[in-house]
Amino acid sequence: MFAHQPTRGVSGISGVTIEDVGQGDAVRVLDLFGATILWIDYGGRQGNPFQGVRRRTVDRFLHVRPSDLVMLTHWDEDHWCSARKGVTARDADWLVPRQTASPRAARFSAKLASIRCIPESVVGLVHEFGTGGGDRVRWEKIARWPGPDARNEDCNLTGVAFSVLHERDDGVTEVILLPGDAPCEAVGHFHGYVDDAFEVRGMVASHHGSGAHWPKATVELLKHLDPDHVVFSCSDPNAYGHPDRAKWSAALPNAEFRDTAEARRDGRRSLDLLFTDR
Ligand SMILES: [Zn+2]
Repeated sequence: MFAHQPTRGVSGISGVTIEDVGQGDAVRVLDLFGATILWIDYGGRQGNPFQGVRRRTVDRFLHVRPSDLVMLTHWDEDHWCSARKGVTARDADWLVPRQTASPRAARFSAKLASIRCIPESVVGLVHEFGTGGGDRVRWEKIARWPGPDARNEDCNLTGVAFSVLHERDDGVTEVILLPGDAPCEAVGHFHGYVDDAFEVRGMVASHHGSGAHWPKATVELLKHLDPDHVVFSCSDPNAYGHPDRAKWSAALPNAEFRDTAEARRDGRRSLDLLFTDR
């Protein structure tokens, strides 16, 4: 159904890189040599590192080739707006969820060379981009667009969530969770990872580490998923109080937490979450 197979010719996946884009997300999925297979979001709003720099600098920091696939978790601006400033990202292939978008998002989408919408007929189904060695990227549009007349669509709950899987030699599958801004329990296929055959190596925290709207189901599922590493992708400071470290560390007492703002203070532009991390 989807013409673009970003993992074609790829032998395996080493993990993901979480770019420091300030308040927002931009994540790359990496092959075994560290080359980008797939972009998930291309955001960065408040506190982004591109204020006052030339367009070409954005292209150099967040380099997208015309042949790359960029997928959006959802249409909130902090997940796509670096592409307004960069140039090369607009020539890539974009695969996006059908959602009610802002006028700015609609104007931006008209500037992209190639953009396709995930059909609503596949909502709730799990899709995979497989590699030769069995590693794969899974993705799922988690809920339906409520339609043009609906008001107040919560884009966080009708977007696309991802996970990256690595097959270990002993038969265990290691997983990195990329829920976008959706709470984990809203992602159907994440519930399958509480099985012992899966080990959750890491995750990019939902909604930049937000502590709002945590029903019991969030805490319960996070406890069962038990990721080793959690990355908060957000700016410091930000207007939303992200991340809520107390809530996340209470839910995941064994996890190691890092954030992109800290990485910037250390002079780095990104953080890696790799299957080799222990
Ligand atoms: Zn966001």
